[in-house]
Amino acid sequence: MRLEVITNWAYGITVALTIVSGTAMLCASSAQREERTARETRHDLEQANHVLTDEVYMLTNRAREYVSTGDPAYLTMYRAELENLKPAEDRLGSTAAKGTTADERRILTEAFNLADALQDEQAEAISAYQEGDLDEARQWLFGPEYERELDRLRAVAERFADNVDQRTRELVRDTERTARFWRIISEIAVGVTALLFLCVLYFVFKRRVLHPVVKLSDVLRRMTRQDYSSQPLEIPQIDEIGDMAHAVTLFRENALERQRLEQERDRDRTSRELISRMTQRMQGSDNVADVVDIIRRFVPRVAMGLAGRLYLLDRNRNVMVETCQWEAPKYSTHEFSTLACWALRRGMPHHPSSENVDVPCPHLDIAEGETPDTICLPLIGQREVIGLLYLEGLEDLSDDCAQQGHLLAMLAENIGLALANLKLREDLREMAMADSLTGLANRRQLDLVLQKQLGRGGHNDEPISVLMADVDHFKRINDTFGHDAGDAVLREVGAVLRDATRKSDLSFRYGGEEFLMMLPGTDLPTAIERAEEVRTRIEDLTLSFNGHSLGSISISIGIANSPLHSSFEGLVPLADTALLRAKSLGRNRVEIAENRRTRRTGSAA
Ligand code: GH3
Ligand code: MG
Ligand code: MG
Repeated sequence: MRLEVITNWAYGITVALTIVSGTAMLCASSAQREERTARETRHDLEQANHVLTDEVYMLTNRAREYVSTGDPAYLTMYRAELENLKPAEDRLGSTAAKGTTADERRILTEAFNLADALQDEQAEAISAYQEGDLDEARQWLFGPEYERELDRLRAVAERFADNVDQRTRELVRDTERTARFWRIISEIAVGVTALLFLCVLYFVFKRRVLHPVVKLSDVLRRMTRQDYSSQPLEIPQIDEIGDMAHAVTLFRENALERQRLEQERDRDRTSRELISRMTQRMQGSDNVADVVDIIRRFVPRVAMGLAGRLYLLDRNRNVMVETCQWEAPKYSTHEFSTLACWALRRGMPHHPSSENVDVPCPHLDIAEGETPDTICLPLIGQREVIGLLYLEGLEDLSDDCAQQGHLLAMLAENIGLALANLKLREDLREMAMADSLTGLANRRQLDLVLQKQLGRGGHNDEPISVLMADVDHFKRINDTFGHDAGDAVLREVGAVLRDATRKSDLSFRYGGEEFLMMLPGTDLPTAIERAEEVRTRIEDLTLSFNGHSLGSISISIGIANSPLHSSFEGLVPLADTALLRAKSLGRNRVEIAENRRTRRTGSAA
């Protein structure tokens, strides 16, 4: 039931009870008035009764004193008192008006008649006395007849008094009972009204004041502890408490918004710190594997609630190849053509989702009509696409891609720059290690390789052969056709060597027109075969420069093998010595280093 209905009912009942109480009070007071009137009437009747008997006795006494003394003063007094008496009818009439019953009136009439008879006898006695008949006068007033009449009058007066008394007592008892009844009714009505009033007051106070105030205080207490989880207050009443509830609701909403913004700012700051730390680590990396490892560790922490894959561009095949993934992404394939991604085609982030209508990328493995929340971020460095950062929202976290958009863009930019820097560094390193003319590794790289091998203790028992090659009479080419033609010849020789270099082999430009081939795992016979093959292919070259034939060229090769000729560190000088021998023996030939025993014999000789 609504509060308003309850209070209306309560007010109605209170008014009705107040009317009942008032009416009862009026009835009680009327009964009390009746009681009072009855008591007064009784008193008046008793008075009248007494007056009647007193008058009779007074007149009797005056008449007797006159008859006994003969003093006319007593006669004068007698007559004066007799004149003062009202006629009996008048006195009966006034008493009748005071509510006497017919029976009482009859007794009174009897009393008046007796009084009148006695007055007549007094008059007979006085006139007898005045006529000189003293005995008759005495006989009238002091005789037994007169006394008997006086006694009768007293008895009638007493009967009247008893009658009136009994009747009045009953009336008083009745009116008293009625008055008490109405008083009790009135008191009950007042009591119930007061109780009802208190109940309604308590109910209204509890529902309209206490309850909302307790709720408000609870919400405020929680809010002081930064706990905004309580439900918003719904107090529609239009009063100060309603205003307070509205203010608290607004305050809670503001605090929630502030808390959300603070959380967002904290998350943003944490993500930025993570990106900054990740960028520092990437800058410190000197190979792609390290960078990929850093990305795999950091990106899931930055892009919270998103699964993803990192793709790197394979330039030879023009495809994006997955290098790592996190949080088990479902949709994108492991490898795809660069044309299969809208982000790569347009060079900017691509974010189709249910909220954001767009074409999904062909590299996404999704069912028709499905629009998962995905984002593709091209990794660009030095204005070139290097790879792709692909992210997708985990279930029930849709639209997170969009919310973290600016952070993801920053992430992709930093990853792109780090990969570009790495590539740049690798290019520079390659350039420093490579010979620009022939594209083969240079002498510096050979030194590094030798150092590394020596650091590992050489090749132990594994055979390794070194071929040292030198172009024969190269100076002549320079002298005859010019330095550029000489360079062209060196490039051709380098190409032959590179072509002859197998996966496990290494070829270097040793300096000038000298080259070195390192053949790990190759024994001497195989090395000789390989040297002969190279020598023959150079011999077979048809060289020309700027339309002029350069004729044919040849190379001489010296071979040394470990462990046959020496340990690993002695191989290069031994091969060089063998090469010198090839030169001295007429060039365009392959010479093998002397083995250890022959060298010792030779040096002894
Ligand atoms: P040999 O058969 O004894 O090896 O005679 P050679 O003429 O080849 O030997 P030599 O050492 O006398 O001459 C090597 C020449 O190679 C000298 C140098 O000018 C030339 N040369 C060295 N480096 C380059 C280069 O990068 N380009 C060109 N065009 N010539 C170079
Ligand atoms: Mg030389
Ligand atoms: Mg030479």
